[in-house]
Amino acid sequence: MDPLNRGRVESWLRYSEGLGPYYRNRDTSPSSPPPLPANTAPTKELQTAAPKRVPAPAPAPPALRVAPSLSPSVAIKPAAPAPSLFEIVDRVADDTLERIREDIGDCTRCRLHKGRTKIVFGVGNPKAELMFVGEGPGRDEDIQGEPFVGRAGKLLTQMIEAMGLRREDVYIANVVKCRPPENRLPEKDEIAICSPFLTRQIDVIRPKVICCLGSCSAQTLLATTQGISRFRGEWFDFRGAKLIPTYHPAYLLRNPAAKSDVWKDLQKVMAHLGLQPKRR
Ligand code: SF4
Repeated sequence: MDPLNRGRVESWLRYSEGLGPYYRNRDTSPSSPPPLPANTAPTKELQTAAPKRVPAPAPAPPALRVAPSLSPSVAIKPAAPAPSLFEIVDRVADDTLERIREDIGDCTRCRLHKGRTKIVFGVGNPKAELMFVGEGPGRDEDIQGEPFVGRAGKLLTQMIEAMGLRREDVYIANVVKCRPPENRLPEKDEIAICSPFLTRQIDVIRPKVICCLGSCSAQTLLATTQGISRFRGEWFDFRGAKLIPTYHPAYLLRNPAAKSDVWKDLQKVMAHLGLQPKRR
């Protein structure tokens, strides 16, 4: 299998773990940590967090016996068979943003659903060459259902326009789709449950450049625990795209002096995409 499809299948399998028994491949329950997707290796070595061992699945409950006296009409139906690898590959190859949104549904997979107003899926050009990834919705985003629409969002829009683009030219999404309470950072388990949706969005959009906004986004996609200041502005390979981490616009609102660093990072993106800065 080629590396792109392998990465997609692995992403789908991780995602499908949260979907229920129909999608679980019981024969492949890992007894050791799953391998990282082959095409997520950063070009620069990062000290990665030790992958968590996936707990062994709970033993299957004893098979239910149907009493001989019961009529066949009340016999217990066998579980739906797990999809074959080919079915999984087909489904991954046919993935769309609409299907991902459908799969999210009225999601209650993690605790963040309790405090949300709207799921914030993502917005922008589905064929964007440039994708921005933040950490999670804030108050304004939660109300409007769109990422980066508050003060930090306005600054991001200005940054995009300074690059010679319009907001609708790029795609903007977050690691988690529901607002963490009190605007705290998403927690590890919330990220683990929700981030496969982001991975699928990236695989569908296939941007040339992914710009991670802030440490949560960069640490999630690069699977590292290092602080963003250690690797901000450097290029990494991620699922066929070039990935560059930079500071979150909310951080720039608190630390305007860091804007020059971010502008340097964005200039690297512009050079990679052949963009001309907007004339002032
Ligand atoms: S954050 Fe993601 S996984 Fe959690 S409830 Fe929202 S959509 Fe579902």
